[in-house]
Amino acid sequence: MINILDLNLVELKQWMKSNGESEFRAKQVSDWIYKDIWKFENMNNIPQTVKEKLQDNFYIGVPELISEHTSKLNDTRKYLFALNDGNLIECVVMKYKHGNSICISTQVGCRMGCKFCASTIGGMIRNLTSGEMLSQIMKSQQLIGERISNVVLMGSGEPFDNFENVMKFLEVVNSENGLNIGQRHITISTCGIVPKIKEFADFQLQTTLAISLHAATDEIRMVSMPIANKYSIAEIIDACKYYINKTNRRVTFEYALVKDLNDSKRDAEKLSVLLNDMLCHVNLIPINEIEENELKRSPNDSVNEFKRVLESNNIQTTIRREMGLDINAACGQLRRSHIKGNNVNEGV
Ligand code: SAH
Repeated sequence: MINILDLNLVELKQWMKSNGESEFRAKQVSDWIYKDIWKFENMNNIPQTVKEKLQDNFYIGVPELISEHTSKLNDTRKYLFALNDGNLIECVVMKYKHGNSICISTQVGCRMGCKFCASTIGGMIRNLTSGEMLSQIMKSQQLIGERISNVVLMGSGEPFDNFENVMKFLEVVNSENGLNIGQRHITISTCGIVPKIKEFADFQLQTTLAISLHAATDEIRMVSMPIANKYSIAEIIDACKYYINKTNRRVTFEYALVKDLNDSKRDAEKLSVLLNDMLCHVNLIPINEIEENELKRSPNDSVNEFKRVLESNNIQTTIRREMGLDINAACGQLRRSHIKGNNVNEGV
């Protein structure tokens, strides 16, 4: 059985054709799916014989809601979903006045090993397919009863470690025949896999590229990010410049502030030198502490001082608004606490 959400319209048309059906059925089926009709039997304009063929070959792989957490601090919701094979993923929906945003996962777990991140603790289980990425948005839209207009690929997983599926997802999510979300409303975040940044640049999409930099020197980066042993900051900056040249898009650098590791005034000055004259923007994130390590959150004064130094060097800087701190909304925290909870039960 194939998840029909993994097919784009061209592929579904081809399937119809090679199964003796009219190609226009593909568009009809896909219209139903994007109108949240997830049973072939409920697709009124599809003849019974076609419905049966579809049922024999496809399933509509929308995840099952396992648990939902709504932040008391604001209107942020975190969903834990079960995929068709029982694997768990999570995504976060943030409601803003200007529209709803979603943070989706791209892999079950992650193999990048960043020390501050809960998603990576159990390693990588598998890649998500493009349809599984898409269905996180579809299911969330159904749950909140509203459309979602902004998508960030910042949940569990490393998007550039699942490049092909992510590129297909970007095509369908953006397509008029898919979810029709504009490229400029999509942000893809990477820990800095240099060859993939360049490959991505060559597609010349209008999406936003975010780089999880988190340090101004390789030595400090290596403390929390194993990928820093493979690619240097200099190579990342080069790849970003290539991306900017190709797309004319501003790059976002994410910088998670860890107390006494990367949050000093000197760090801010070094970062300023590194990003000097680049078309970029820095997003400062005081880390969400997780139980599994000793990394501590920077005090507010250091965060503000860091921002001040960057801005005095003409680098546009924001401090990430924290949504859902009370619901374990940082990467992988909910799945992790669910798995841990289950283990405790098994042990009893
Ligand atoms: N693998 C991709 C996308 C997923 S992580 C990447 O590395 O960019 C999304 C962002 O959240 C990254 O910047 C990541 O470094 C950050 N992050 C992960 N755990 C965090 C934590 N505990 N506190 C703050 N930021 C965290």
